[in-house]
Amino acid sequence: MSRTLQAQVLIVGAGPVGLTLAMDLASRGISVLVVETRFRGEPPNVKCNHVSARSMEIFRRLGVATTLRNAGLPEDHANDVSYRTTFTGEELSRIPIPARRERYTATGGPDTWWPTAEPPHRINQIYLEPLLFAHAQAMDGVRILSRTRVDDFTQDDDGVQVTATDLETGETLQLRCHYMIGCDGARSAVRKAIGATLSGTDVVGRVQSTFFRAPDLLARAKHRPAWATFSLNPRRCGNVYAIDGHETFLMHNYLNAGETDFEAVDRDWALRTILGVGADFNYEIISKEDWVGRRLVADKFRDRRVFICGDAAHLWIPMAGYGMNAGIADAMNLSWLLAGRLNGWATQAALAAYEAERQPITEQVSKFAMNHAIALQKEREGVPAGIEEPGSVGAAARAVAGKALYDLNVKQYCCGGLNFGYFYDHSPLIAYDEESPPSYSMDQFTPSTVPGCRTPHVWLDDGRSLYDAMGPEYTLLRLDPAADAQPLIQAAKARGVPLTVLDLKSRQAAGLYRHAFVLSRPDQHIAWRGDCIPQDPLALMDLVRGALIG
Ligand SMILES: Cc1cc2nc3c(=O)[nH]c(=O)nc-3n(C[C@H](O)[C@H](O)[C@H](O)COP(=O)(O)OP(=O)(O)OC[C@H]3O[C@@H](n4cnc5c(N)ncnc54)[C@H](O)[C@@H]3O)c2cc1C
Repeated sequence: MSRTLQAQVLIVGAGPVGLTLAMDLASRGISVLVVETRFRGEPPNVKCNHVSARSMEIFRRLGVATTLRNAGLPEDHANDVSYRTTFTGEELSRIPIPARRERYTATGGPDTWWPTAEPPHRINQIYLEPLLFAHAQAMDGVRILSRTRVDDFTQDDDGVQVTATDLETGETLQLRCHYMIGCDGARSAVRKAIGATLSGTDVVGRVQSTFFRAPDLLARAKHRPAWATFSLNPRRCGNVYAIDGHETFLMHNYLNAGETDFEAVDRDWALRTILGVGADFNYEIISKEDWVGRRLVADKFRDRRVFICGDAAHLWIPMAGYGMNAGIADAMNLSWLLAGRLNGWATQAALAAYEAERQPITEQVSKFAMNHAIALQKEREGVPAGIEEPGSVGAAARAVAGKALYDLNVKQYCCGGLNFGYFYDHSPLIAYDEESPPSYSMDQFTPSTVPGCRTPHVWLDDGRSLYDAMGPEYTLLRLDPAADAQPLIQAAKARGVPLTVLDLKSRQAAGLYRHAFVLSRPDQHIAWRGDCIPQDPLALMDLVRGALIG
């Protein structure tokens, strides 16, 4: 007889997206079963190196930001990006990014101006994921089945019936849930099973990646260490990420346009050329992976009770370090909606907002990433002659290339727009007004209270972060303490919508928050604003909980 387990939500995949989704759902009182083929807490392949500020804001709310911030590179290791002729060659330019010791206090850098309590964090996924796993596993309401594979599922009016296999014993498990989310990565079986197809650009670039140990490498470099070190020379260009800050590194060798066969490119030669070292240099390969950078987005993110999030829903070359982080943003968009539904105040129809809101954003981010990859390829193909020459001719070529690389790449490494600039402009759950949201680019954005935008972060006059002071679900921010919020409070009560009222006392809010009331959603995007509570506050509550859809 097969075992049967139940939870309100079943998540397929305990990658960073699945784990964050599980934590957020559990924090909203939902029981979650996470199914993962890997061993308990087993690290993934060495991949993502950047946790965005927006993701760190979420981790702060979930109580795990400090744990993550204290891990990764040593606290005094520069998080800079250094452009050089080779790793051991001349430096062309450097993007300054604070080490984690100075991360909360640094000023004057290209990413230190952002209005947030949690700036970005550089940590590799091999360190990040086990910490997320441990945090999720310790939460009430989360149960993780490791070494278990989801094989199949069917849906009915009340829920999803899932068949899984315990990979240790071979036992078949029957799992029952109200909703299932495929966070099962690039090869997602859930995506295929719901009939979603990926479309976009199949090949943006090919990358030969090598994770290696080289205790002598840092001593050979002329310049102080960086988090990412990009080599630009006529022979071979590539990027090297510091992983432990001492002896382990991840190298991405970006293949040239005509190089379609990974095997035809000599890995050892390319690695030595990018590093600028000879035959006397010793290193040990820890792992290697050859991968194709794509720009693909699923044509649908949902089939009735089953959803997809993260790499299962979209894949692109992780320029701007925005693959995992976009997936976490998906998860946070879906989580409160599902919790609202399961807690009884959001309608089934409200769940349509997930695809309506997130699919356009993933299209936008995927295009930013692809366009950046193409621009970077042009830089690699146009290496100035004489870049490695000594003397003034070489110095001039290096200065020109260094500036071009800085100007291009500061946008991806300090991508404020991707973090905070996106807005949901076609949502069935948002009360739009006459003002349009400010446009954004990869690096630039303008904080705004236009409905659909991220609730602008400010520090309160009492020193707290606005986000720390807001409620866990909807928060009505009151700018005018004399304004009467009672009609909306009563309407929320009548409809069961959890609402916290917060008097926003912040000098930083002046000029930015221009209305007496701003209604912030559980995912910290703005649902409505106004100078007085609407004549029909019940209608506003019905809009935000999806009761007016259809
Ligand atoms: C070289 C490289 C560098 C990158 N750098 C960055 C970066 O700097 N910043 C960034 O944001 N992103 C980066 N990314 C992308 C990032 O790694 C992914 O976007 C991220 O891992 C996606 O997370 P996920 O949880 O959606 O999927 P995954 O991490 O792929 O997790 C999916 C999980 O599902 C499990 N699973 C699959 N099928 C089943 C099943 N049937 N049953 C049970 N479990 C299942 C898998 O074992 C896996 O653990 C990079 C990627 C690569 C390849």
